[in-house]
Amino acid sequence: MSEAIILLGPPGAGKGTQAVRLAAALGAPHISTGEILRRAVAADTPLGRRAKEVMEAGRLVDDGIMLGIIEERLGEPDCAAGFILDGYPRNRAQGEALDGVLDRLGRAGRTLARRILSLTVPRAELEARIRGRRGVEGREDDSEEALRRRLRVHAAESGPLLAWYGARAESVSGVGAPDEIFARLRAALSAPAGGSA
Ligand code: AMP
Repeated sequence: MSEAIILLGPPGAGKGTQAVRLAAALGAPHISTGEILRRAVAADTPLGRRAKEVMEAGRLVDDGIMLGIIEERLGEPDCAAGFILDGYPRNRAQGEALDGVLDRLGRAGRTLARRILSLTVPRAELEARIRGRRGVEGREDDSEEALRRRLRVHAAESGPLLAWYGARAESVSGVGAPDEIFARLRAALSAPAGGSA
């Protein structure tokens, strides 16, 4: 594979679960910006100290900080043949920044086809899923208030991002059993870019 697979979708859409499965199936690294940040918080690094409160409140970490994280991570050797990106971009500015990173990697001889897959799940189901995982994963940002904020932030930011991607983003239903959703994603990826799955 020589693809940058970019998984979009609201909190609770199953991006993380599906990204792990895609990564295993394709032999590509799974890059989760949420995980990178949670590790930084746990290790109490300067980045973690800056990100902690923002994350716990369910807000977005600064675009400039995120770009630095992404540029560094995608430049690592294990990403040269492709990767699954989960949690980035979250808004249009990040989408534009990601294109810039991928263009720079392309000029450095690492050209990757971009596949943008957007998992769609109705809001009521998202809320039920996140409440269900509360306590199981022990995430601070699964609290009721942070959950509401994360869904609100997503609702405000994803429209402009998806509008900017236009036909480059392919919509895939995120409703159903994880196996079914995985099969839909695989079908979308095996069809030519821009085709409907
Ligand atoms: P996630 O695990 O993807 O839901 O991310 C958890 C939290 O990390 C988010 O609610 C944000 O606070 C932060 N975060 C993760 N990715 C990004 C991003 N691309 N831009 C800004 N903040 C992010």
